[in-house]
Amino acid sequence: MEEKSSLICDACQARLEEAQVQFRYLGKSFRYKAPRCPVCGQVYLSAELVTGRMADVERQLEDK
Ligand SMILES: [Zn+2]
Repeated sequence: MEEKSSLICDACQARLEEAQVQFRYLGKSFRYKAPRCPVCGQVYLSAELVTGRMADVERQLEDK
């Protein structure tokens, strides 16, 4: 059975670890969990996560 979080870094062949990463959009920054390579530090962003976060930020800005 395959673990859903067992992503492997293409460059390092290392198992990605879930880490708190900082994400910036429209001058705002916030943290969320994403899989990250412990060797090269590459973060793997899912399009769904990024799109959802961007929508949240845009909604907050519109509320002002
Ligand atoms: Zn890597």
